[in-house]
Amino acid sequence: MGHKSVCLECYRVENLGLDLTNLHLGKCPLCSNQMIFINHSFRPPKKTDKKKWELVKFMISEGFPFHHVYQEGKSEYYKSESNNYVSYPKTLEEAKEWVVKYKDQRIKN
Ligand SMILES: [Zn+2]
Repeated sequence: MGHKSVCLECYRVENLGLDLTNLHLGKCPLCSNQMIFINHSFRPPKKTDKKKWELVKFMISEGFPFHHVYQEGKSEYYKSESNNYVSYPKTLEEAKEWVVKYKDQRIKN
């Protein structure tokens, strides 16, 4: 567990640790792009898997940095029931409908 940040230019993932009061999203040490916050449950695709990374970029730009999304009518109160989590889409086509369906649970910047 712990939070992560990701560079969407060179697909580098860094662990941020557990201390949320001291979250520091720095610049990527390789390309100095701004690192982006991403949920600990995120499993990075292979660096060569461009299609998967396109999907990751899309989800983040739509306000879904891989945080838990709940089925309709569910909320934080049901957190212990992990089967209430909705799984993230596997393809960009799937993702386009998915982000509309769960738009109420997006994280607004
Ligand atoms: Zn980078």
